[in-house]
Amino acid sequence: MPYLVRDGLFISNIGGAAEILQSGSTEITHILSLLSSASISFFTEWRSSLSIPAKEIRKVYVGGSGSAPGSHDDVGDSSKKALAPDKLLYSLEYAGKDLKMVRMAVPLRDMESENLLDYLDVCLDFIDESRKEGSVLVHCFAGVSRSAAIITAYLMKTERLSQEDALESLRQSCEFVCPNDGFLEQLKMFEEMGFKVDLASPIYKRFRLNILGDLYNRGEKIDNSKFGADPGVPSEMVSSEASEPLNGEVKSTPAYRCKKCRRVVALEDNVISHTPGEGETSFEWKKRKSGNPFNKFDEHECSSIFIEPLRWMTTVEEGGMEGKLSCIHCEARLGYFNWSGIQCSCGSWITPAFQLHKSRVDISTV
Ligand SMILES: [Zn+2]
Ligand SMILES: [Zn+2]
Repeated sequence: MPYLVRDGLFISNIGGAAEILQSGSTEITHILSLLSSASISFFTEWRSSLSIPAKEIRKVYVGGSGSAPGSHDDVGDSSKKALAPDKLLYSLEYAGKDLKMVRMAVPLRDMESENLLDYLDVCLDFIDESRKEGSVLVHCFAGVSRSAAIITAYLMKTERLSQEDALESLRQSCEFVCPNDGFLEQLKMFEEMGFKVDLASPIYKRFRLNILGDLYNRGEKIDNSKFGADPGVPSEMVSSEASEPLNGEVKSTPAYRCKKCRRVVALEDNVISHTPGEGETSFEWKKRKSGNPFNKFDEHECSSIFIEPLRWMTTVEEGGMEGKLSCIHCEARLGYFNWSGIQCSCGSWITPAFQLHKSRVDISTV
């Protein structure tokens, strides 16, 4: 049985959703299904075995390749997100009795390492639109983790609640909801980013890099399609920014150049900032010291910047755990990378780390 969370917003397990698809509902007009890809196909088979009708509206893949014209608009900038470019973002169909309901299916596994953030925009928009037209049921398999995480995010955004308060509020409607710890962590990031998924935020960039680090640790080959565009190759920058309006004007953004040959090796946008001296494994004594007003500032100054992996980093592509980062033009040593982390001179641990020594680069504008 679906539980009422807010006017026009319900949560249930897969049984609740199946029941509504089969028998119809006087209230629910929209369904948001959060299931693994395999369960989405199973659901489709189950439905056709019972002759419950469905008619596809469109399928949208990350990076904007939809199966129907015009579907590109929905995803916009998602090609820059951390999901693999050929991954299904969502499918949309008419479903249920007389094809009166609209159902969106989003592939999401209930795992701590699953990327929830990159699906939030499409899910929250769907809930919002659905509530304007009627009522929406959000369901996953058990109705405990995935659906609860999405509804928690929705309550956070629409009612400006902290992650804890939103979840507590949801528990008043449905006491056994319990998003997994990885989802809770991502919802905390969502809160810190101001109730949106901000691709330019250091929080999101670190999250994206952590996903890449996870893939590396699971033994997946990290090829340069997962790296950022090389800011030293203008044509590459054009192709990667092709989805954005070309106003002719190139913004002047700060750039880091190789000190020896002046080649651009990173832009400000590529930098993954950290708070000096902070980080889960930074030395305790350093933390205490930073509270001391007699402490000299430069003891804590960072001697490096940390950036996302970029396409000029050929040594990273070779697959090693760590190695040198050298300028691709003059081969001058610029820094070091290590998938298991590097400690900055300020005490913070950055994991994974792609480090440029400040002494080896100059900052200028491009
Ligand atoms: Zn630092
Ligand atoms: Zn150089």
